Amino acid sequence: MARKTVDIVVGALRAGEGFTTAQAVHSRAIALGHSVSVATVYRTLRLLADAGTVDQMVGDDAQLRYRFCGDAHHHHLVCRSCGLTLEVEAAVIENWTNEMAQARGFVDVRHILEISGVCSTCSA
Ligand SMILES: [Zn+2]
Ligand SMILES: [Zn+2]
Ligand SMILES: [Zn+2]
Repeated sequence: MARKTVDIVVGALRAGEGFTTAQAVHSRAIALGHSVSVATVYRTLRLLADAGTVDQMVGDDAQLRYRFCGDAHHHHLVCRSCGLTLEVEAAVIENWTNEMAQARGFVDVRHILEISGVCSTCSA
């Protein structure tokens, strides 16, 4: 996968907010002046999703949507069967880890938490 293609796709993803379909990512890349095919965008998004660089979610229309992962701290709920990765908010965990570690005199506290299971599509 060419570095340039990755930069184009990631750039197009970051140019918008929230989760976006591959089609919309492609339109955005074109609008930004890049010449890249829809097939290349699809393939690159899938590779980036496998690498954990982008998050995926399934929309109400059953289409996969993508978002650049890594700007803000968040956690993932991952399907062990199909690899679907959802972002989850976990204020309880943020507060607990900080308070628990600070109470024991720790500073610069960080944590990694990934939750896995089988998604509703795969378990149906
Ligand atoms: Zn993420
Ligand atoms: Zn699944
Ligand atoms: Zn956290």
